[in-house]
Amino acid sequence: MLIVKRSLWGIVLLTFMAVLGACGGGGSESTGSESDSTENESSSEEGLKDVYTVASDTSFVPFEFKEDGEYVGFDIDLINAIADEVGFDIKLETTNFDGIIPGLQTGSFDMAIAGITITEDRKKTVDFSDPYYDAGLRIGVAVDNNDINGIEDLEGKTVATRLGSTSADYIKENIEGAEASQFEQLDQAYMAVENGSADAILYDAPNVAYYIQTKGKDSLKLVGDLYQAEQYGIAFAKGQDELVTKVNEALAALKENGKYDEIYEKWFGERPES
Ligand code: GLN
Repeated sequence: MLIVKRSLWGIVLLTFMAVLGACGGGGSESTGSESDSTENESSSEEGLKDVYTVASDTSFVPFEFKEDGEYVGFDIDLINAIADEVGFDIKLETTNFDGIIPGLQTGSFDMAIAGITITEDRKKTVDFSDPYYDAGLRIGVAVDNNDINGIEDLEGKTVATRLGSTSADYIKENIEGAEASQFEQLDQAYMAVENGSADAILYDAPNVAYYIQTKGKDSLKLVGDLYQAEQYGIAFAKGQDELVTKVNEALAALKENGKYDEIYEKWFGERPES
């Protein structure tokens, strides 16, 4: 059943990726696809550790979430494939999204994968890998809501979102008179729309679309377009340049050898041509 739902989601994704079109195809194709070039051989691995502490979100479907007591999702598969490629082990730690960047800054985590949008502001405190996923923001409303059909209809409304997210900033900066109702967990944000305490949710497009294909299929629907194109990157505590380089090389290699596509298709259906 889950497979059917996932391929349905692929159709939705295809549609919005087509809209997204011009925003670049992941952007890492140009970085060292020849992993055995002399340049790479000369950079020694002496600075790399055997085990890295990787932070992820407690729940952000379908990138990381708990299923049968285990963390699964696109990000989890991708970081494991990267770790195999570079040759390190992972100690996974999950935390609320708004705790991830502070945790990288204080050194509690070495790196993090959690659908983290690359922003200029965040680059001041953490480093990012090359982008690994094109996303953006979308609106979800109750199935019987016919008043909200796009971003302009959110003016003066209560919009559910998550604490510390790019959507929370977007609501504050771009939607006149809207109140951003910010929750620590996404379950709470979706529930606020379902029980009527918020008029809509504005959140990451792949997350809203996946939720609406699965748990929220009878309660919520997608409206409007894709707002604010975003790209996800793996975030690192600053000062680990060699690790960042290796991770970027691994990401390029996985895109080259089909492994990235395999993981993509597992969670989203067929990958749109870029
Ligand atoms: N992409 C969003 C951000 O970086 C949120 C991702 C998430 O909730 N895990 O702000």
